This record gives sequence, structure tokens and C-alpha cells, in this order.
Amino acid sequence: MGEKKMDLKKINSEIEKFVSDRDWDQFHSVKNLSMALSVESSELLEIFQWLTEEQSNQIKNDPKLMGKVEDEVADVFVYLMRIVNKTNIDLEQAVVRKIKKNAEKYPVEKSRGNAKKYNEL
Ligand SMILES: [Mg+2]
Repeated sequence: MGEKKMDLKKINSEIEKFVSDRDWDQFHSVKNLSMALSVESSELLEIFQWLTEEQSNQIKNDPKLMGKVEDEVADVFVYLMRIVNKTNIDLEQAVVRKIKKNAEKYPVEKSRGNAKKYNEL
């Protein structure tokens, strides 16, 4: 994320203004937003589809592809924030709670350095 701190409140009000200026909230059921989020994350995936592991790790050196990655990451974020806003999720609390759950599922002593799923640890 770099050194710059993100102004989440400002970004969020820009997202909400964009939607209300176009009267698009009527199309944004939580179901539709979840589907749109999945589509956008697939668009992100598509950029990497035929790249090797090494090429994917070097993508930051390709300004043209990075422009696409940034666009799709932004799309994913926008839909995620719309879901958060429409469901009144406390995002910070939800993330902290989920990291705690993940830490219980993946204790360091069992999961450090391996990629196995928790039910195979
Ligand atoms: Mg997109």
C-alpha cells in the first residue's frame, strides 16, 4: 500500500456519490453486488491466466499490465465497499475477527511453511 495512508471515508463517499449520481442503487441488491464482485475478481484472474508463476511475480515491472491489475483491484474494492455499506458491516471488526478465526484454524506450529488446508494439518 506504500507510505500513503488511504482516506477510507473520502474514498467511500466518492463511491456512494458515483452510485447516487447515476441512480444505480436500485440495481445494487446484495446478491447483484456479490455477483459483480466475483466477476471483477475473475477479471483480475484473467490477467494472470496464461502467465507463469515467475511472470506473475514480475508483473509489477510491466506498466501496461499493472494498469489493468490496478483497475481490477479497484473494481473489486468498490463492489466490496458497496456490500459493506449496504449491510452495515463493521469492516475493521469483521477483518480482525476473521484473522483471529484463521489463526485458530492455522496454528503457527502446524502451518508455518506449508500450504495445506486446515482440515489436512
Ligand atoms: Mg473490471
